[in-house]
Amino acid sequence: MRLSRYFLPVLKENPAEAQIVSHRYMLRAGMIKQQTAGIYSWLPLGLRVLNRIQTIVHEEQARAGHIPLLMPTLQPADLWRESGRYDDYGQEMLRIKDRQGREMLYGPTNEEMVTDIFRSHVNSYKDLPLTLYHIQWKFRDEMRPRFGVMRGREFLMKDGYNFDIDKDAALHAYNRHMVSYLRTYERMGLTAIPMRAASGPIGGDNTHEFLVLASTGESEVFYDAAVVHLKLGAREVDYDDRAAVAEVCAEFTTLYARTDETHDATLFDAIPEERRKVGRGIEVGQIFYFGTKYSESMGANVVNDKGEKVAVEMGSHGIGVSRLLGAIIEASHDDKGIIWPEGVTPFPVGIVNLKQGDAAADAACAALEKALLAKGLEPLYDDRDERAGAKFATMDLIGLPWRITVGPRGLANGVVELTSRRTGVSVEMTPEAAVAKVAEIYAGI
Ligand code: ATP
Ligand code: MG
Repeated sequence: MRLSRYFLPVLKENPAEAQIVSHRYMLRAGMIKQQTAGIYSWLPLGLRVLNRIQTIVHEEQARAGHIPLLMPTLQPADLWRESGRYDDYGQEMLRIKDRQGREMLYGPTNEEMVTDIFRSHVNSYKDLPLTLYHIQWKFRDEMRPRFGVMRGREFLMKDGYNFDIDKDAALHAYNRHMVSYLRTYERMGLTAIPMRAASGPIGGDNTHEFLVLASTGESEVFYDAAVVHLKLGAREVDYDDRAAVAEVCAEFTTLYARTDETHDATLFDAIPEERRKVGRGIEVGQIFYFGTKYSESMGANVVNDKGEKVAVEMGSHGIGVSRLLGAIIEASHDDKGIIWPEGVTPFPVGIVNLKQGDAAADAACAALEKALLAKGLEPLYDDRDERAGAKFATMDLIGLPWRITVGPRGLANGVVELTSRRTGVSVEMTPEAAVAKVAEIYAGI
């Protein structure tokens, strides 16, 4: 992509309405535009990151054996009357009437709808286990939408629902989600700590929230400092192996980590004092096991292997896809702008031409662009007729993790410069070596 032809409405001034750094940088980098309270347009750069995050979510759900579908944003009120939640949900639910006067709502979540799909088509244990999920826009008429995409009213969520024959199978689905979420967040360059949580309007006893530590987080968290260092890394987990999956979950949930809702001062005080931490966190996901809460009220039954009709066991599992952009920026930025982890960056690398119009520099940039594209790495090439300083400032603000700088002086010696956004370290090398190095960095990401 050439910047001269792109749509990147960068702001020079700090927008007054943004209270936290991620919101400020998303506005300044031309990623989003607020249309009304808590509702945003996703401008091209923001959309690229949102799509990267969705791709990672889909890939990790596929790895865990979960099946994508797509349910609508608008739902009939009657479905929610069956579970009893139409009246319970309160003012957060956006209620709408169609021209026939039928009551509808903009879905804040999809337990009822997916249970309706299940009961229409599945009636035997032989079709289980089954986990269906989608990535779809949700609407919650939040009392205080704020912090940009962190607490929107319309927001993008991955929500998945497991259907199992008995409690053990459903708890395995719960564990499988936990492991797949750990992998999902790690691929985005995040440390998201599973913390024991309270269940709220979805109901159920077993629930964990995934929190990214950040001073701007809305949740108060209490944890053992050692929990921050746990990593899944490159290990392979067989998602069908119940014991292996449970073992990973035990590894990540044994150390103390809770939100204020479930905090237990006695347990917390048992942690050695130097490891006792109180801080703040951003909730980027939550998993629930709730058994037969919806299947009983909505008549989602299956016949088991003894020929008996039983209510299907369920759980639901959500990832805050649009909130993740804010969380990643809160966790990865400096005073010049965003620092995207390679896994989610909108472009893998930027090219800065220090002297636009210089025949050698222009040709070298075009050749670099072509070579990177041939490797499947689409660069953002700043080909504008701008000062070098302005080009660097834009690249730093939008946070591409790698930059190749091309100028007549370097080219006279056969070299360009490859710079890491994170460390600021620049290395001179031939254009071919720079392309090979960037390809090596992104291999396997
Ligand atoms: P919160 O406590 O932050 O209001 P929640 O517990 O009500 O969130 P869930 O029902 O667990 O939310 O939804 C799954 C995920 O969707 C959350 O973990 C969060 O990352 C994201 N999410 C929830 N509400 C919003 C919102 N208003 N804006 C952006 N993302 C949200
Ligand atoms: Mg939650």
